[in-house]
Formats: sequence, structure tokens, C-alpha cells
Amino acid sequence: MKKYIFVTGGVCSSLGKGVAAASMGCLLEARGLNVRMIKIDPYINVDAGTMSPYQHGEVYVTNDGAETDLDLGNYARFTSSPLSRVNSITTGQIYQEVIQREREGRFLGRTVQVIPHITDRIKQRIRAIGDDENVDVTIVEVGGTVGDIESVPFIEAARQMIHELGHSSVISVHLTLVPEVAGGELKTKPTQHSVKELLEIGIQPDILLCRASTPLDEDLRRKIALFTNVEYEAVISAYDVAGTIYEIPFIYHEQGLDELALRKLQIPVPEARLEDWRRVVDVAKNAKRTVRIAMVGKYIDLNDSYKSIDEALFHGSIACESKIELVKLDSEKLEKNGNLAEALANIDGIIIPGGFGSRGVQGMINVAEHARNNGIPFLGICLGMQVMVIEYARNVLGYDEANSTEFAPECEHPVVSLLEEQIDIKNYGGTMRLGLSDSITMAGSLLRTAYGTERISERHRHRYEVSNKYRAPMEKAGLRIAGVTPDGALVESVEWPKHPWGLGVQFHPEFGSKPVAAHPLFRNFIAASLTYMTARSEGS
Ligand code: GLN
Repeated sequence: MKKYIFVTGGVCSSLGKGVAAASMGCLLEARGLNVRMIKIDPYINVDAGTMSPYQHGEVYVTNDGAETDLDLGNYARFTSSPLSRVNSITTGQIYQEVIQREREGRFLGRTVQVIPHITDRIKQRIRAIGDDENVDVTIVEVGGTVGDIESVPFIEAARQMIHELGHSSVISVHLTLVPEVAGGELKTKPTQHSVKELLEIGIQPDILLCRASTPLDEDLRRKIALFTNVEYEAVISAYDVAGTIYEIPFIYHEQGLDELALRKLQIPVPEARLEDWRRVVDVAKNAKRTVRIAMVGKYIDLNDSYKSIDEALFHGSIACESKIELVKLDSEKLEKNGNLAEALANIDGIIIPGGFGSRGVQGMINVAEHARNNGIPFLGICLGMQVMVIEYARNVLGYDEANSTEFAPECEHPVVSLLEEQIDIKNYGGTMRLGLSDSITMAGSLLRTAYGTERISERHRHRYEVSNKYRAPMEKAGLRIAGVTPDGALVESVEWPKHPWGLGVQFHPEFGSKPVAAHPLFRNFIAASLTYMTARSEGS
């Protein structure tokens, strides 16, 4: 059908453009359309792989191993758009591709310029996805704020697409802020200015999503419509939700956003089916019990560092008809054993997520020991699983010096190490295991129970592996190997013996969890935590 929606943002960053774009995708899918999602990041980095979580939050990994912006995670949770490296576009990629062509002599002696060569490449990348005959609508989110120097070529490409394909094939949705000033009054001026900025580049927005703390009244919407030349019905009030972000599609839907967008794109409007989503919001609001989960990591200060895990835990709680309270603990502050019991009192389950570097690892090891000895449900993800292995080697096998060579390259017992350190091959290690690969689950394991199948496929993003040298002594000491690679060569999952629910996985199940279909590992972890909670309250 070749229909496109460009989503831009104005006034300031962090207004939730990703969730807004994803919510629109969700609504169009609820009307039976085949949607694709694209994120544009105007930074020069080729991908998000080398960026600290402190800069841009979590790195979201696709099946094909692309390290992308966390907004792709939002798309994965709100829509069923297939996501791979082609769905994430950066300035770095576009320039790299154009410069490579220039070096190959593909421009036949012409001067290579931002317009048309960079903008042409941007359009090609977008249309390579959206022009597919099976695709109905492609939503393109342009990162950054309109007015930023970096995003100009992308917005220019959007303008050209509107010009080339026409207003009934390409529409512009602009997300802005309507701030509240002293006295509680909502102000429309920043929105007016932001739209002016978009107009300067040649784009008249079709729809405005106005973020505000409270719903906008009719007068304000009429005022914004008048000043921005946007029809009144298309000034949508994107007010703050008190509960879950999964309510946002409903806020838009109630104001007719999906119908409006389809009308502008001249697509017949089928009935919306939102029952599954309604259930998620209902359980989140009305569930009678609340499970308390502690997340122990090193990037706790920044809200978005473990975004997909936060969400997967929430999905698990919905599947178990429960609310969730997530207690984030900085592992560095738990390095001294004394403060552990206090920090973990009243906790029903503990999760240790992935991470890189040695800071805070001792605190994680202490937490794993506490969970293992006290029967507290525990899920270790990637680094979290490696921590389980180190802790077991130290405290059960008595290898006091056990460690990962990532943290102690010369340690006496490198129970986690690079593959090249285990078998003497050169030029193998140092690269990450990235993207989807298969594992075999052991019969009778928690892992097998969760998935229900022998062969599973999950995404990886790590360098270090459990050392095969230590596999036999570890197993002899009771640690269960619950999953391995199909050739049996690498450990993919471990479980604690004599423990109600203690599981670690080398891969990242969180990337595959959806609110309407919780990942089975998160669902079962929350179920075990609820059982523990009930036993705890009956015991006290
Ligand atoms: N730092 C560890 C490794 O590289 C774990 C990585 C992770 O948790 N994603 O193997």
C-alpha cells in the first residue's frame, strides 16, 4: 500500500516518542493492518553497541544481532512488526553506506552531497521496508528534537517523501509538550514554536500529540489547532497516565487517533480489536496482590538501563494476575554482607540482569549467595548467570579465588572466561556472541518446564562463557546444567539444587516478552515469587 507515518518530536527530548510511535503501531495492528516500525537515530555512531547505558539506556538486540536503540524494544512490545538491523537507521550508517558507494565510483564523478545523495539513501532505506507489498503502513520515528542540526537530513527526507508520494500516502505526526506553569496553567506557546520549526523545513504536521500533565480542554485544543493549522480533531491530548504505559494506546484510541490517521491515509477503517490489551490494563489496575521483586545491578540510577527486563517482569506479573513493585538496588552498595539481609527483607524474588565490567560484581555475588541459602526465587540473566557460577564455585566448591577473567584476568580459578582462554585458538575471542542462537534444555529442569520444548532459540549478547574445565567439578558439587548449545559445547543455563526456583540463563529472554504474551521464564519466575510471598506471609 506504501503508506508512511513520520513521527517527530518537538520542544524537548524524552517526551516518549518511542512509546507514542509504538502505540500508534499497536492501534493500527488492532485494526488488522500489517505494520512496520523504523527508528532513526541522528547520532554518528553506527549502532548503539558501544554506547554506555548511561547515554541512551538499554541496548536492544535484534534476532540478527543488531545492537539498537531501546525504542526497538518498545516496538517489539507494542507491535508484531518484524525487527532486524534494517529497522534501525543512524546517521553513521547512512554516511558509511554513501561513502562506500563513493569509493566504489558509483556516483560517476558527480559531487556527493547531503541533498540529494544522503537524503536519497535515507529514503531508500525507509522504502526498502515500506514498499513491500505485504506491508500496509510503515511508522518512521525520527529521534531527537525538530530544530536539532543532526536530524535535518532525515526531516528533509520525510518532506521529500510527502512531496513525492502525496499527502494521502505520507503523514506527519508531531509530538510536543504543553507545559504547566506556576498556578497550574497549561501553555501552548512551545507547541506553536515547535510546529513553526517543522514548517520552516517544509512539513505541515497532520496530527499533533500534545504531552501534558493533565488532559487538554477544548479551548486549549482549539487554540493549538488555530495557531498550528492542524484540524481540531487532530490535536490529540497525550496526557500523563497514572498506571501503565500500556494504557497509552487507549488514550489515543478514545480520541480517535487511529481512525483519523487511517482516514488521512485513505485506508478503509476496519473494527479495532483491543481485548487483549484491555486485559493487561485491567490486571495492572485491579489485581489484588503485589509481588516485590528486587533488581540488583550496576546501572540502577538510570531508569532505562534495564528497560526490557523491567517490562518483562511487568508482563510476568500480568500473566500471574498480580501487580509488581520493582525495588532497584545498586549492587555496589551491597558489597558488605552486613547490609544485605536488611536490603532484601520483604523481597519475594531477586533478579540480576546483564552487565559489563567489574564494578559492583561482588555485591551481586553476595546477593546470589543470600538468595541460594535462603530459598528466595532468583533469575540471573547473562552476567547474572555468570555470577551464579562464580558464587557456587567460591562458596560450595571452596574455590575462594573463583572469578571471571573479565574481572580478574589472572585469577586462580577462572570459572568464566573467554573461549580462546579455554582452548588455545587465536583470533576467535574478543568478539561478542550476538543475536539468536539455539539451546537444548534438559528434561526435568526449570528451563524445560518454562519453555515446554527441548530446543529453544534466544538472543545473546556476551563475550565470556562458563569454562568447560570447571563443568564437571561444578556438576559434581550439585550445580545443574539446565541448557547447553546444540553441540553441547557451551553452557546456556544453570540451576541451583535444593532450591525452589534459582535459574540463570546466558541469553536474554527479556527481549522477546510482550504485555499480551509474557515470556515463560518471567512468568514462571513471578509465579515462584508469588508462592514464596504467600509462604512468607503465612510464616510470619
Ligand atoms: N560481561 C559479560 C560477558 O561479556 C556478560 C554480558 C551481559 O551480561 N550481557 O560475557
